[in-house]
Amino acid sequence: MYERAEARIDLASLRHNCRELKSRLGEGVELCPVLKADAYGHGALHCVSAVAEAGADRIAFATASEAALARSVVPDIPLLVLGALAPGEVEMAISAGADVSVWEPGFIATLADQAAASGLVVGVHVKYDTGMGRLGTTDPEMVLELARTADAHPNLRLAAIWTHFATADEADSNFRDLQRNRLAELGERARREFPGVKLHAANSAAMIADPACHFDMVRPGVAIYGLDPFGNDPADHNLKPALSLHSWVASVKDFEPGMSAGYGRTWQADHQTRVAAIPVGYGDGVRRGLSNKGEVLIGGNRYRISGTVSMDNITVDVGPDSGVRVGDEVTLIGTQGGETILAEQVARPLGTINYEVTCGISPRVPRVGRDSESG
Ligand SMILES: *Cc1c(COP(=O)(O)O)cnc(C)c1O
Repeated sequence: MYERAEARIDLASLRHNCRELKSRLGEGVELCPVLKADAYGHGALHCVSAVAEAGADRIAFATASEAALARSVVPDIPLLVLGALAPGEVEMAISAGADVSVWEPGFIATLADQAAASGLVVGVHVKYDTGMGRLGTTDPEMVLELARTADAHPNLRLAAIWTHFATADEADSNFRDLQRNRLAELGERARREFPGVKLHAANSAAMIADPACHFDMVRPGVAIYGLDPFGNDPADHNLKPALSLHSWVASVKDFEPGMSAGYGRTWQADHQTRVAAIPVGYGDGVRRGLSNKGEVLIGGNRYRISGTVSMDNITVDVGPDSGVRVGDEVTLIGTQGGETILAEQVARPLGTINYEVTCGISPRVPRVGRDSESG
């Protein structure tokens, strides 16, 4: 048996999701899965290989070190760093052969100098802030100016102009439409000057909600892992959750009425029952906010967490006659028998999103890649 807890990553589901998303794209539109933050907590290395096998045209990351790690397992596929790079990280991005995002003249000068020093040519994606209000320039003239710089420099190659949506997961499409139109308008101008320049904008929600957002490439993150960008049920979009989180029953004890489980005695037995202790806690990423709220599956049955989530353990009232035994597998995210706990359901009582649930599984939990099918 594994120690404490294990996150299983079904690589067949990951490949299914890639193919499903790719099938929605028009001819020539590229699929660029986003594998930042250790592939949203799924383990970057096996995910990089799986998406490369399943038709990714390019893979995106937030940081240079993430791209460099991916380069060690996929020698040929184009890579893109979406995020801000400190001057000291530029060299790592360049030597990984990754394209880089720019929105600032000082940065593009540094990038050009370092590319020239390495004797390499770096692909440049100019970021246009059409409304996210985070990274990128809001000034369309600056976007064109940066594009000209990239086009003119022998060690830079103008690859794309791109943006990122702020509200793509919301039912009201007005702001998404405004952002999309801003990119489309500037893109038209840019293409008169640079006919080969590509445009990209869509995250998972935008790519699913509106094909007009696809442009030349899409950048789905969360949907690649079979998580629903709208926070409901991934099956609504024919996506399969790739991650499941498991632990096991370490002890089962008889409880008399009045006995309590865990710190602060926030749960007390009001009847004769049995309480299971499970060696997983907030040190593993099972958030303390799930105390007396979260659920787990044991023996195909659903149970509520009883008491406070501690760093290394949770406790569960399994009832007086449940038959739960030491060593039984516990599923915190995933399916057992006919019951399923989705990351979306874990997120809800915490007031957060599925993204944070999988990213929050701590490094103490090993990520084990598996294949539920071949191909
Ligand atoms: C994380 C990220 C994505 C992917 O977003 P999802 O909502 O997970 O699909 C796309 N583009 C950028 C710039 C990102 O930072």
